[in-house]
Amino acid sequence: MPELPEVQTTVNGLNKVLKGKKITAIWSAYNSPHYKGKENIKDKKYFLRFRKNTLNSPVLGTDRVGKNILIHLKNGVTVLIHMKMTGHLLYGKYEKRKEEWEASEKGPLQDPFNKHIRLVFELNNGKHVVLSDMRKFAKVMYIKTKDLERHSDLLSVAPDSFKLSQNEFVKRLRNKKSGKIKSILMDQALVSGIGNIYSDEILFETNIHPETDIDAVDNKKLEEIWRVSRKILERGINLGGDSMSDYRNIKGEKGKFQNKHKVYRKTGERCLKKNCPGKIKRKVIGGRSAHFCNRHQKLIKTKKRK
Ligand SMILES: [Zn+2]
Repeated sequence: MPELPEVQTTVNGLNKVLKGKKITAIWSAYNSPHYKGKENIKDKKYFLRFRKNTLNSPVLGTDRVGKNILIHLKNGVTVLIHMKMTGHLLYGKYEKRKEEWEASEKGPLQDPFNKHIRLVFELNNGKHVVLSDMRKFAKVMYIKTKDLERHSDLLSVAPDSFKLSQNEFVKRLRNKKSGKIKSILMDQALVSGIGNIYSDEILFETNIHPETDIDAVDNKKLEEIWRVSRKILERGINLGGDSMSDYRNIKGEKGKFQNKHKVYRKTGERCLKKNCPGKIKRKVIGGRSAHFCNRHQKLIKTKKRK
């Protein structure tokens, strides 16, 4: 699933191409009876309203709240896109052949991971922004820009590591009285933007076993997690995100963070930490695979916090 660096990479890309452009037509393959009456373009009636509210108004800019992409239009409407498990936005020239949309030119947009096109925004420059979403979990809706802060989809999203000061970060995690540190770092209502890959890398770097209970992690260690999370997320952004799985940038190209993993999906390999003789193990924690070094990432069991 795209995490903060991937979503930010997409937002940065969209800001380069979308400003001032208008959406002139929208096509959607999403349609599911499970969404009847919901604020989601998977409901057919909602999709018609979505289209009416978003066509022919210039894009002011794009930004991000947690893992949500927000495209602000001049008419006071914001398009919210959450890419969920397998979604990513692409930009280029597309053509419809029978019922399938295809990139017109050869290149990265024709990568197999970019071919599951469920939603197409046609722009007034003849190009398209499309959503490739193999498993169809993405969420797309519109919200009045002035209501964004109060909207339930965004109210439940906590600030990310960049928006939180060190003290705020520690306080938020400290409020949690129990729970495994990995699950807590991935809880979007506590701190947003961190998912499975980056939580593994952050815990590796800070020498914490992913199953350590939050109560056994002292404030000093939480401060370190805050610092390291910023550093690692920043590195992810600078490398254009992580493409070990489906994620691609808006040109359809892979990011490079997957080449820098020290622990994520390194099961069985030797630990890369200096002078550590450990090996990387994998264990399912809170329904997600955690990867960690069996030597330097200590599971602290006793209550150490004063
Ligand atoms: Zn190690």
